[in-house]
Amino acid sequence: MCWIAIIAVAGITLFMVWASADVGSGIYLKSLCRATTRDKVVALTFDDGPHAEHTPRVLDVLKEHNTPATFFVVGGNVERNPELVRRMVNEGHIVANHTYSHRGTLPISSYRRVCAELNRCNEAIATTTRRRTMLFRPPFGVTNPIIGRAVRELGLQSIGWSIRSLDTISHRSREEVCQRVIRRLRGGDIILLHDRCEDADKLARMIITQATSQGYRFVSLEELLNVKAYED
Ligand SMILES: [Zn+2]
Repeated sequence: MCWIAIIAVAGITLFMVWASADVGSGIYLKSLCRATTRDKVVALTFDDGPHAEHTPRVLDVLKEHNTPATFFVVGGNVERNPELVRRMVNEGHIVANHTYSHRGTLPISSYRRVCAELNRCNEAIATTTRRRTMLFRPPFGVTNPIIGRAVRELGLQSIGWSIRSLDTISHRSREEVCQRVIRRLRGGDIILLHDRCEDADKLARMIITQATSQGYRFVSLEELLNVKAYED
């Protein structure tokens, strides 16, 4: 009897960890993680920026390859680099919410604090671009009932990913990261990259070049998922 109880508790604990940590689980918050399509269309997303040195180079590569992307920005970084955020919008990219300070403590924060993190980031984007974003990506892909409630209450749509590049792991070469993405790529995929990484521009160029040579086309998240990026 005792063993049955231990196994039950372990099972429930594992389920709760998975429900919180996997952005695709959809238990606490429904996140859009890919599109269902037979077309070879995919979307690029960059998290945690803008970064004063690395983001401009990423924007240069996207411009050169005429590739739209979505930047899930951190509000504090928006305030430090407003020109870069305006450049994103001017060059046809989507700017979306990735909280104000990207704290690892968000999953253990109160409802009020979670709302403040989301609102402050939205305000920073609105002040800088005159647009109110409707898209949000939870830091680390972690959700819980409080984050789920705050996102719904604020009318945001949560966006996950279907291909995690693992570009933030420093010992991996660009080639390894690129191959990891290309091997997994299917129509409808959302690729997760980070423009705070030093080689983000070179990695983006490799992924865009190789995916395009395989017949893939990069489209905006709005087009891929049929969602609205901004309030009217
Ligand atoms: Zn992040």
